[in-house]
Amino acid sequence: MPAAPSKIICVGRNYADHAKELGNDVPTAPLIFMKPPSSVIANGDAIVLPRVSQRVEYEGEIGVVIGVRAYRVGEAEAANCVRGIVAVNDVTARDLQKSDGQWTRAKGFDTFCPLGDEGASPRMLNDLEVITRVNGAERQRAAAADMVFSIPRLIAYITSIMTLFPGDVIATGTPAGVGALVPGDIVEVEIVGASRVTNPVRAGN
Ligand code: ZN
Repeated sequence: MPAAPSKIICVGRNYADHAKELGNDVPTAPLIFMKPPSSVIANGDAIVLPRVSQRVEYEGEIGVVIGVRAYRVGEAEAANCVRGIVAVNDVTARDLQKSDGQWTRAKGFDTFCPLGDEGASPRMLNDLEVITRVNGAERQRAAAADMVFSIPRLIAYITSIMTLFPGDVIATGTPAGVGALVPGDIVEVEIVGASRVTNPVRAGN
């Protein structure tokens, strides 16, 4: 079963090559935002493209599922808070993200957070690898070792601000290779050896 998060904390621009492809600088501290739990769908459910957007894009990401109530966790202890790993697709209405200036609408539509079934966390979080495929063709591939801010650093940073609860998900950012989705596409995010989520794309009403 996928995680049932009370909140989904996402990290923007956490791979240097992705920040560059969208013309952004690499941040000097983690850039975080949230997706609502109502955006979550499971493996096989359809991603619905809202008519108000002209450009919806996939973002394949490594999702970290928190296993304990966590507040002010030190970086050295952060890995102990991880219960499992999920494939996340941080679906984004790129045009609305730019026009709104903040990202709640662009990232928050229903069906915009496909989550795979939760898999076991590896002993070495840096070994995690994410691959995104659209209609079977590989579009993104990166390892956690390529992140600007590591998973333990992200957990320490986020829990310096807010309490994380068991089941909460951190979507740790997307690597280079994002692109548009159109009706009829099949998009898949795989975290090698841990989790996978595959979703058809259809037009909304
Ligand atoms: Zn993202």
